[in-house]
Amino acid sequence: MRWLVGLTVLGLFVSLAARPLEATSAQAAPSIVYFPATGHHLAEPFLSFWRSHGGLRIFGYPLSEAHEREGLLVQYFERARMEAPSGCWGHADCPVQLTRIAALLTAGRVDPAFAPLSLQTPPPETPLRRFFPETGHFLSYGFLRFWLRNGGLPVFGYPISEEFSEVDPVTGQTFTVQYFERARFEWHPEALGTLWEVQLGRLGAELALRDGIDTRPVPRQDGVPDYDPALFLRAFRLPVLMYHDIGEPAARYRIPLWRLEQQLDWLLTNGYITISLEQAFEALLADGPLPERAVVITFDDGTRSQLAAARVLAVRNMTATFFVVPGRSALGPAELRELRTMGHEIGSHSVTHRALIRLDDGAVRWEALASRQQLEEWLGEPVRFFAYPGGEWDSRVAAIVALTGYHGAMAAWGGTRWTRERRWAEPRIEIDGRLALDRFAWYVERF
Ligand SMILES: [Zn+2]
Repeated sequence: MRWLVGLTVLGLFVSLAARPLEATSAQAAPSIVYFPATGHHLAEPFLSFWRSHGGLRIFGYPLSEAHEREGLLVQYFERARMEAPSGCWGHADCPVQLTRIAALLTAGRVDPAFAPLSLQTPPPETPLRRFFPETGHFLSYGFLRFWLRNGGLPVFGYPISEEFSEVDPVTGQTFTVQYFERARFEWHPEALGTLWEVQLGRLGAELALRDGIDTRPVPRQDGVPDYDPALFLRAFRLPVLMYHDIGEPAARYRIPLWRLEQQLDWLLTNGYITISLEQAFEALLADGPLPERAVVITFDDGTRSQLAAARVLAVRNMTATFFVVPGRSALGPAELRELRTMGHEIGSHSVTHRALIRLDDGAVRWEALASRQQLEEWLGEPVRFFAYPGGEWDSRVAAIVALTGYHGAMAAWGGTRWTRERRWAEPRIEIDGRLALDRFAWYVERF
């Protein structure tokens, strides 16, 4: 019953509070910004495209001003070049596309990896491997996952090579790489399961050098603000599914493995792409890339049966976030490290799983802080997200958790609408273990 009350109150709060705020931010959003890091402006139509297709992590900083070149409006970035029809400067409604920059820079390469494969009968497409007859190349595993999550065809284009080993021209180190029409992917296994497991080559900088572009900083135009994601509205619909135990018999907090697999297959068939909470919060707070059909899968309480869930996700090239109670959950340091090697994300679910709204300030702080520190000691890396035990939070609890070193926190209800105002209690959808598939589909698509 408490849960129903929470849902209603939160729903009211959101519908009353969110709309006026959005209207204000949208009116105030600038149409040109400045980047002191490189000393260049970013204006429409490229500004909207940059913000909505990946921002800083995907394109990098602008290296030139927008200018007319060979009958087009172009602008060079660290990892891309944007193009629009001539005369479009300042017009938000002009079509923008990305130069096929890697195809240009690798033209004439005769390494075997660039030779198109012509297969009589291409192998069937699986979640772990796709063949693109358009260019005659495969895209597999981690590179496929990164490609899907961060922009796919419109941003990166088709693969134009296979995976192969190449020396990074900047660092001199050897990496597994793959070229796409508009990008060079570099595999970083040490960053598996983070936003940096694939790093993008600085091909825009290479092209600017080749084209003899003037990349020197220019003085800021009068009244143009520094780029800051907070200047712009950002809110979106994102279903975050919340599961608990895996097994039989089905119950509110226990889902049979076959039913979970059926739901995962439904997500795949319907074009959904799992993303990490790290990516979801990057999209919310820093204009990071968000696939049109993104979904986040989460498991609470760290039961042993969740290892089976982790494996059925991994064979589908999907990942999830596991919220554990360190020391109390069955999943200990060895199991959590195993989850990390599969690319899954670990979050904290407190030290004792008590309802935080009934604890005093000091105890709330300890539950959030000590659990994070324990998990970080086990994993040797930052733990960035918190889920309230029992989904129970209020503004006092959220304000305390926000000061204990996390990047964001998750509620256990509240729909699918993500806003910055809800950063310390973003919504999730409880997936009851008895839920029929058509009901599941309704939650993902319509809730
Ligand atoms: Zn729990």
